[in-house]
Amino acid sequence: MLIINPATETVIATLTPDTPETIANQYKMAKTAQTNWAEKSLAQRLAIIEVFSELLDAEKETLALTLSSEMGKPLQEALNEVQGARQRIGFFLQNSQRWLSAESITPTGGTLEHVTYEPLGVIANISAWNYPFLVGVNVYVPALAAGNAVLYKPSEHATLTGLHMAALWQKAGLPEGCFSVVVGDATAGEALLNLPLDGYFFTGSYRTGKHIAEKVAGKLVPLGLELGGKDPLYVADDVLNVKLVAEAVLEGAFYNNGQSCCAVERVYVHHAVYTAFLDALAAAATQVVVGSPLDKTTTNGPLSRKPQLAFLQGQVEDALLKGAQVLWQYQGTLPQNGYFFKPILLTNVNHDMRLMTEESFGPVLGIQLVENDEAAAALMADTPYGLTASVYSSSAARAENILKQMATGTVYWNCCDRVSANLPWSGRGQSGLGSTLGFEGIRSFVQPKAWHMRK
Ligand code: NAD
Repeated sequence: MLIINPATETVIATLTPDTPETIANQYKMAKTAQTNWAEKSLAQRLAIIEVFSELLDAEKETLALTLSSEMGKPLQEALNEVQGARQRIGFFLQNSQRWLSAESITPTGGTLEHVTYEPLGVIANISAWNYPFLVGVNVYVPALAAGNAVLYKPSEHATLTGLHMAALWQKAGLPEGCFSVVVGDATAGEALLNLPLDGYFFTGSYRTGKHIAEKVAGKLVPLGLELGGKDPLYVADDVLNVKLVAEAVLEGAFYNNGQSCCAVERVYVHHAVYTAFLDALAAAATQVVVGSPLDKTTTNGPLSRKPQLAFLQGQVEDALLKGAQVLWQYQGTLPQNGYFFKPILLTNVNHDMRLMTEESFGPVLGIQLVENDEAAAALMADTPYGLTASVYSSSAARAENILKQMATGTVYWNCCDRVSANLPWSGRGQSGLGSTLGFEGIRSFVQPKAWHMRK
């Protein structure tokens, strides 16, 4: 299996993928390891997780460089991601005792009733490449804290990062077998689906998520799916500072080269501020620099996967054919090699265009004029996805009126493209099932046992 740097198209590593046999062996080891791990106290498990977090900090430069070289994000963004992952671990360290400890429900009387929270067992964490630290930590840290063992399958586009994570767990003192990296692509993922695991936690596309849900349904074990989105954002006519809003929208759309599950993918703008907003957005876009992820001035590196170049181009061409207009496109020279794409902003768009209905997952953005809040809300809701929705307005009441109509797991007022460890992260519809982060994200990796105790 070749690991290719998307910025240079050079092979940076050659790995041997796991086979169904090696994966079955990993499972056997995990099963034994899990029993011992679950017998340790929660405090002992959290102590090891804390060391893992300290090691992330100690090795952040190498980790960021590896991540940047295998999926192409600018080095500073890779460093930010490692730091963000540490903050999330901090949340789990602070809250696991509270939410995983036994609860006494009926402490007096003839029958004493209490609840304990037991680990699921050995779980699969099949992960994505766009934020491997963040989406990995969301699953494997609370899973390990609760006493589970994890078979972690990083994306084939973030495998070196996954292997480095495993090395850090070992250094941190995690017993062997509690966290195993499964190397490979869809074939290795399929092998995990064929094993009798106790839970499946997936981050990735709707297509793969649906396949996994169908395949493991008969096992009747917990399933978590963090899938894609087509996240809308509305700019109302009462925004106080159009320039600041435009800058926030651009960052929400283009950070990580648009390869974020909660990236802003479509924008609706009230007609009264439409022209001013477009001017401000085009002005903000002049700050975009496409280039090597190692260059400090670069805002957008290459796309992580080569087929995505043609996919995005297809969305843009479809939109242009149907009447869209280019508001702005990157004019600089692209590096000669690598999967580089010129970010683009399009106006005169509508929902007959693929650009406005299917997930782009890249630096392309459509901006549509709307007459009023009702029209904006109807267009925002016109999607099978349900990850996030955002409204920019100076009125909380006005924003809330729109946001409460959205069938999404997350809503934003005057912000966007944001995840907080304090809050549950979940998608509805084609954006997923279950939650990570927050209280729900800790309880996702345990099963309650109800105790009825009579003397
Ligand atoms: P993907 O579905 O192509 O792959 C995800 C993982 O699934 C990879 O590890 C891959 O090897 C594995 N896989 C592929 N086929 C499989 C199969 N048949 N059986 C088992 N495993 C299989 O997705 P991706 O390109 O890695 O990630 C991008 C997608 O992830 C986007 O849609 C994005 O929106 C979504 N995403 C969602 C969140 C969230 O929190 N909701 C976060 C990050 C990414």
